Amino acid sequence: MSVQTDSDKRKQISVRGIVAVENVAEVKKAFNRHVHYTLVKDRNVATPRDYYFALAHTVRDHLVSRWIRTQQYYYEKDPKRVYYLSLEYYMGRSLQNTMINLGIQGTVDEALYQLGLDIEELEELEEDAGLGNGGLGRLAACFLDSMATLGLAAYGYGIRYEYGIFAQKIENGEQQEEPDDWLRYGNPWEKARPEYMLPVNFYGRVVDTPEGKKWIDTQVVFAMPYDSPIPGYNNNVVNTLRLWSAKSPIDFNLRFFNSGDYIQAVLDRNIAENISRVLYPNDNFFEGKELRLRQEYFMCAATLQDIIRRYKSSKFGSREAVRKTFESLPDKVAIQLNDTHPALAIPELLRVLVDIEKVPYEKAWQLVVKCCAYTNHTVLPEALERWPCSMLENVLPRHMQLIYHINFLHLQEVEKRWPGDMDRLRRMSLIEEEGEKRVNMANLCVVGSHAVNGVAAIHSDILKATVFRDFYEMWPEKFQNKTNGITPRRWLLLCNPGLSDLICDKIGEDWTVHLDKLQGLKRWAKDPTFQRAVMKVKQENKLRLASLIERDTGVKINPASMFDIQVKRIHEYKRQLLNILHVITLYNRIKRDPSSVVTPRTVMIGGKAAPGYYVAKQMIALACAVGNTINNDPDVGDKLKLIFLENYRVTLAERIMPAADLSEQISTAGTEASGTGNMKFMLNGALTIGTMDGANVEMAEEAGEQNMFIFGMRVNDVEELQRRGYNAYEYYERNPELRQCIEQIRSGFFSPGEPSRFAHIADVLLHHDRFLHLADYEAYIEAQQKVSDVYQDQAKWAEMVIENIASSGKFSSDRTIAEYARQIWGVEPTWEKLPAPHETA
Ligand SMILES: *Cc1c(COP(=O)(O)O)cnc(C)c1O
Repeated sequence: MSVQTDSDKRKQISVRGIVAVENVAEVKKAFNRHVHYTLVKDRNVATPRDYYFALAHTVRDHLVSRWIRTQQYYYEKDPKRVYYLSLEYYMGRSLQNTMINLGIQGTVDEALYQLGLDIEELEELEEDAGLGNGGLGRLAACFLDSMATLGLAAYGYGIRYEYGIFAQKIENGEQQEEPDDWLRYGNPWEKARPEYMLPVNFYGRVVDTPEGKKWIDTQVVFAMPYDSPIPGYNNNVVNTLRLWSAKSPIDFNLRFFNSGDYIQAVLDRNIAENISRVLYPNDNFFEGKELRLRQEYFMCAATLQDIIRRYKSSKFGSREAVRKTFESLPDKVAIQLNDTHPALAIPELLRVLVDIEKVPYEKAWQLVVKCCAYTNHTVLPEALERWPCSMLENVLPRHMQLIYHINFLHLQEVEKRWPGDMDRLRRMSLIEEEGEKRVNMANLCVVGSHAVNGVAAIHSDILKATVFRDFYEMWPEKFQNKTNGITPRRWLLLCNPGLSDLICDKIGEDWTVHLDKLQGLKRWAKDPTFQRAVMKVKQENKLRLASLIERDTGVKINPASMFDIQVKRIHEYKRQLLNILHVITLYNRIKRDPSSVVTPRTVMIGGKAAPGYYVAKQMIALACAVGNTINNDPDVGDKLKLIFLENYRVTLAERIMPAADLSEQISTAGTEASGTGNMKFMLNGALTIGTMDGANVEMAEEAGEQNMFIFGMRVNDVEELQRRGYNAYEYYERNPELRQCIEQIRSGFFSPGEPSRFAHIADVLLHHDRFLHLADYEAYIEAQQKVSDVYQDQAKWAEMVIENIASSGKFSSDRTIAEYARQIWGVEPTWEKLPAPHETA
């Protein structure tokens, strides 16, 4: 029996699960039990946060049997395991996602309503798990969801940072960072596993013994695992994300110093535990700090011990012969490296096999290469990890030896194939000799992996032609493309229930796991009734975002205006400055003719700048200052606003995507590896203004260029301009509107109290601009004019919106993961549904 009451704020659709009276009663009982026994409160003294935790525990209870049974099932069946290694997991919140994937959202909504509680208010009390910087970390989170949904025996491994990505506060128009103390109230989704703690060694020295090399006199730090459940969508699979936390050994320091200063020795335990203290807040930037190197190794060393323990204790691996030779390791283990951050897994696996398991070196190396695969995420030179040999030598002396040995054998192969080609040897070496000697971690990954992939077609092509050109010549078969994707559960079903319902009405609910089915919407692209329905949902989502912004910033925005949004990390290559130049241009046009009719726009820019990235912080300050000028100018009124969205993160993205009309994806062609924000906007019915960069290229392929606003230089134009020599001044002189914008920035028009405030930004644009802003300015302004024109024709706009939604199926991370599974990991997605706990004994 099912009930439908008007209590449901979220319209009930079947994907939200069937609501049965007896299940509602059970949820209420469980919730009350948790308030009493877990939170130790009665309803007179319980706070909203107590209710959130009681609710989280109630929902968690539904995971437990499925989690245990999934892991038992993997043990019994012993399939090949997939290990995803990442220094970042940008998970966001878990409560609603868990309810949706378990199909209990409707039931829980009803139970909370009957208890007189506002579930949405409680959901707001969950802290984001912000263990990531941006796209790379969010990709890892989407992949976990898809791997569980496809039924892969997959494990995520990473670090349990005590402090995630900082909270961004805007004070006096500037970014301030606040530490993200996300564990302060406890984390109901994790289970500590102190019984599985593992040692990780650092420093020390290597000695030769009759039994081989020995790494001795090391300092030990323990890695304590914390497991979080990763539920698949509607299939009773629950995989594990295992994050390591650093723990001092009991006798830390007492052993070494024995100074008798007991208090100091206890205080010093913190030093070792600093390893998992804080996420480095750089996106696409390498900062060669020793603590970061220790984080990377800590994660790899703990994870590989776990992988090898599981292999040996598996039904298959426990056979004596197999255990000794590790012959079948690649049949049972696939290791995916999310960028070079976990690259030390390669020498570490080699070390374990050779030094500890006594596998002959050649055999061990073959096993390493067969197990490992590497995903590249960027071609920006400042992002590539190049650790100084001196630092590696000190922190990980045995690994440094092994890297030299790997390099020696590798260069022998190169020399055999291209005798006497010294330049090629230098380019392909794992060791860079210019200046301080460094290990090129990307080269190490390519040599140590059987598969190397880029994250969008154009990016994979660029890799083969540039950074890995020599390697592609040597091993063309290693190189693949795996275009990124996003999980349609979080990025449509969860964040946009209005649009989800509308889609279900038309084509059923299969799209949630087969996103290609969205193609079925195309037949209604020109249907005025469906167009109005889609635009009505968009309008409701815009109103919700508008009231959220008014609550948080006090700025009133015109909900009838076009919501023109650029949210992503702040970076020169992403060209938020180009967006700002457009806003200033529109402003100047309005000022020149205040009575002119324009398409009203609310431009929103959001994103964090790395705390040490001076120009990025200036970009935020400029956006705030320009916004301040425009938003308070009575000549402008409702026609134009520029708002800086504070503290962009996963949870804010979930509010923004459904409310966007226009998605800004305007990086210099050749710089954005893929982008995934672009996909979230598309799936939620925003149109894209973008360059032919990253996955934008494939979005245009899927939707047709007539359904996007593509502008600017292509990769070959960029290359040609750079060959010719880019001279920003040419563009500045040629275009009076552009010149006016730059002059305003340079001379303090937006910072009258401090005229030179943004002079440096003007200087960057005119003299030190690697990303060619001014070369694309005119084309961008023109494309924006087209956007404004089309927006006036709401039927045309709606048609394009529907065409975009219907064409976004390729960008499901389910598709991406199915490709990794078949073409890299050698496993087959099962789409298997395990029995629910109550279905068997
Ligand atoms: C998707 C996402 C990103 C990546 O955005 P890009 O536009 O691809 O750089 C960054 N941060 C958050 C919070 C996201 O959800």
